[in-house]
Amino acid sequence: MDRFGRTIDYLRVSVTCRCNERCLYCMPEPNGRPVGNGDCLTANEILRVVQAAASLGFRKIRLTGGEPLMRPDLCDLIRQAAAVPGIEGIGLSTNGLRLASIAPSLAAAGLGGVNVSLDTLDPVAYRRMTGGDLQRVLDGIRAAQTAGFARIKLNCVLMRGINEDQIEPLARFAAARGLPIRFIELMPITTSKAPGRLRFLPAEEAMARLGPPDAWIPSPRSSGDWGPARYYRLPDRDASIGWIRPLTDPRFCDSCNRMRLTADGQLMPCLGDPTEFDLRRILRQSASDEPVRDCLSQAIAAKPRQHRFNRLGQPCRPMCTVGG
Ligand code: SAM
Ligand code: SF4
Repeated sequence: MDRFGRTIDYLRVSVTCRCNERCLYCMPEPNGRPVGNGDCLTANEILRVVQAAASLGFRKIRLTGGEPLMRPDLCDLIRQAAAVPGIEGIGLSTNGLRLASIAPSLAAAGLGGVNVSLDTLDPVAYRRMTGGDLQRVLDGIRAAQTAGFARIKLNCVLMRGINEDQIEPLARFAAARGLPIRFIELMPITTSKAPGRLRFLPAEEAMARLGPPDAWIPSPRSSGDWGPARYYRLPDRDASIGWIRPLTDPRFCDSCNRMRLTADGQLMPCLGDPTEFDLRRILRQSASDEPVRDCLSQAIAAKPRQHRFNRLGQPCRPMCTVGG
């Protein structure tokens, strides 16, 4: 528990800061340059953190990035992390580009669920927004469904003037495949100035595009639901639609259960706060797990009540090194 009574049992691990896309809202630099100092944790170091976290009561792990499927040892890492006593589930967030070929191996390794980013169904807009090939992502989503993951979700970052025309098509696409979709408010974390305030589209406005306020029926939280989304249904369609509202929901942080480990081994108590704890140094200084546990406990104790997106404007660490 942190000092505000929140149970912190969900560790998000960025396993690489490299990515094969360049999303407008995340890391729009050209030329595939990696962001961050490139000195990422080894699989063994990540496992030590997972073991220490599990011994403190962490139960859920999400592997993210950058693009986690770019990490060659990912399946081994999943297999070993899934075997850590206390860990109840491992999830992965991916852009889906490499998912089609690797989905069966991920499932065999013990991955429980995948969240696939899908910001538009228009191939030209998709390339403009992410630099990637939409068809490969759609193939990846199909492969994930065939591989039989317990949880598959779609994620869409809302950007005014970029993909706001896609809210309805994406909601229909997700419903037709029986998949929940989450619409995420744009957060001011990026390596560029591209997603300025003008691009921000509040979730409330996006919701209104799908149905009037009194039509939305809140869904009860399910046990497989680790994240910050609030899910709703609309009576006229068979779809579970989640909204992630870090900027417009004043109570967004009240139920935060997360701690983040960056690709370069820094523990971040909060995505929207610059405080970091240098766990990589500790991992490399000592073979003992005690200092790792201590560092995790300190980070939990330092978890702020709320993020500081509104006050900070643009925190410096890019999303791709934190993992969202
Ligand atoms: N590459 C993977 C992917 O795209 O899903 C995993 C890493 S990505 C940083 C994790 C999540 O963060 C994705 O759902 C992505 O859409 C979201 N994200 C990235 N930048 C964001 C921003 N500025 N505001 C809101 N969400 C963002
Ligand atoms: Fe890469 Fe994911 Fe960031 Fe897009 S959101 S640039 S896919 S890390």
